[in-house]
Amino acid sequence: MIRYQCPQCGDWLAVDDTRGGEVYVCGLCGKSARVPIDELRLRELRALQATRPLTPQEWRQCAVHLRALGNDEEAATAERTAIALCTKRLRELKDLQATRHLTGIELDECFVNLRALGHDQEATKAEQAAIRQHERERQAAEQEEKQKWASINTGLGSCPSCGSTNIIQFTTGGQEKPSVGRQLLMGSLAVTSPEMMLLASMSNSARREQKQYHRRCASCGHQWLC
Ligand SMILES: [Zn+2]
Ligand SMILES: [Zn+2]
Repeated sequence: MIRYQCPQCGDWLAVDDTRGGEVYVCGLCGKSARVPIDELRLRELRALQATRPLTPQEWRQCAVHLRALGNDEEAATAERTAIALCTKRLRELKDLQATRHLTGIELDECFVNLRALGHDQEATKAEQAAIRQHERERQAAEQEEKQKWASINTGLGSCPSCGSTNIIQFTTGGQEKPSVGRQLLMGSLAVTSPEMMLLASMSNSARREQKQYHRRCASCGHQWLC
């Protein structure tokens, strides 16, 4: 339940947690007012805190709600905690950066924390670095995926263009040539009916499309005859 005082008549009201932020009509004075969510949100954050440490952003939210509830002292403490956490994390990241390149996610953390501490210029620089790093990581992942794909060996040789062994084979044309029996039949048709022979030979030439074997590289798309 959220307990709050009607801003019009001062009566104490209690509404369900799910109604936080909604406009609610006071039963005593009939005026409507928005149900405060600060207490509810604060309680949610405290429940969260019981399961894991809060992030600086969450501490900052605590501070906002505490201030709204008039608890300035606790709000200031929450704010200090947020700043301390940001500073600590930034130091950790800086130490890490001395040993290796930071990942995109770590650089994201840098700019979030720098911004939270009000170091806007540094934050912007870190943000740009994060974007570049994310792009590099995306390209590297793409490259890796490509190489994995190219290294599949289908046993049909390698691509003359890119060297991949991921080759597929397919055929075009090459419908079956007329059988001997059919040729004999056509011969006999020629005797009995020249028109029928003409028809038969026409349909026969349509069948004489040459069969071709193609190979195609599944990696780069290069295609050749064999
Ligand atoms: Zn009221
Ligand atoms: Zn290829």
